[in-house]
Amino acid sequence: MNDLDFDRLHIWHPYTSLTQPLPTYEVASAQGCTLSLADGRQLVDGMSSWWACLHGYNVPELNAAIQTQLAKMAHIMFGGIRHSPATRLCRHLVELTPQPLQHVFLADSGSVAVEVALKMALQYWQSRGTPRTRFVALRNGYHGDTFGAMSVTDPDGSMHSLYQGFVAEHWFISAPRSQFGGPWDPQEMTELETLLATEHQQVAAIVLEPIVQGAGGMRFYHPDYLKAVRALCDQYGILLIADEIATGFGRTGKLFACEWAGISPDILCVGKALTGGYMTLSATLTTSCVMRGICEGAAGVLMHGPTFMANPLACAVACASIELLLASPWQQRVKDIEQHLLAQLQPLASHPAVADVRVLGAIGVVETREPVDMAWLQSLFVELGVWIRPFGRLIYLMPPYVITPVQLLKLTNAIRQALDRIAA
Ligand code: PMP
Repeated sequence: MNDLDFDRLHIWHPYTSLTQPLPTYEVASAQGCTLSLADGRQLVDGMSSWWACLHGYNVPELNAAIQTQLAKMAHIMFGGIRHSPATRLCRHLVELTPQPLQHVFLADSGSVAVEVALKMALQYWQSRGTPRTRFVALRNGYHGDTFGAMSVTDPDGSMHSLYQGFVAEHWFISAPRSQFGGPWDPQEMTELETLLATEHQQVAAIVLEPIVQGAGGMRFYHPDYLKAVRALCDQYGILLIADEIATGFGRTGKLFACEWAGISPDILCVGKALTGGYMTLSATLTTSCVMRGICEGAAGVLMHGPTFMANPLACAVACASIELLLASPWQQRVKDIEQHLLAQLQPLASHPAVADVRVLGAIGVVETREPVDMAWLQSLFVELGVWIRPFGRLIYLMPPYVITPVQLLKLTNAIRQALDRIAA
């Protein structure tokens, strides 16, 4: 059986059927912002492999970090053992994130970082002798595919109904309405204010993606919304969990999206770009107050400890990625990408197939009027020499920061051509 048939018959791809599989494209190698298909075609990458590969692919500094670490040890358990890649990485994280975030838990993936964040909040309240088991989350939010993460993800978008009776039930408030860059309407806090006025004693934490709601709709919201949520959390003594798994490490133009509002969460999740997209790793940071609450309570420990916790290869490449990012003119690069996306995508707002265009930092979104035929559009994009993976009514770009203007133009031109075909 050839590889294509084996893949079709035996291997699940994300969110796909094995009886009616979507087409896949074999990538043989990737370099810079170019993916090379096994058949020789070259595609400009517009996705950064789902927000992760912010330096592009096959990056000498990142390769070297892994090779150097590999020669020392690929993995070692973290129970009772410490190692320099993890220590260095956690120093970076404590230093780069808001000052109150001082304690780091290293986990395997974004979803697991969210699970750990939820556990931290639950254990914190339990330790205080006032258990709270409800979370408040936002509609259109997305936090991962494990059960805890799903339980705070948009109940419609993540198909809670599929797992009804098993997914924990939390409270969802409307998605933020005031858009980033638009006017702020304080009225939109009424729903949360009303909920908390009566129920705050049950709420362990509010969970949100700061500024950008990613997989749940690629929506950009007003920083004052985040400030107002922080203020309500303070008023009622509720924890705030910020999921920066997609937004962290500069994607919105700030190193962390919380900076747009000048707020600090009580618990922060990072992942994806943490390793420059090289390996799976995530981190959950929290304050000394939450840490003490957990560690001085009945359990006395944070109850989580994955086998591959703090994997040295992943930590080493994460350190290299952070150091490479900070040594680079990343703010200017993100700004340049933003300018290009605004210039090339904004005019598409009047296109007959388009409902909305929005750009923030190195993220460009074209929302179509009708859901796109993903398989058809994907193959068109490949024909046009680009890798853009749309979903629902969203065609979006989040390229590596090192993309060149010529490569960017190829991506934005491909979107324009695709829209013309959709409207034809
Ligand atoms: N939170 C957010 C905001 C995300 O965008 C994602 C992934 N798309 C996750 C959590 C889950 O991360 P992972 O896929 O690494 O489990």
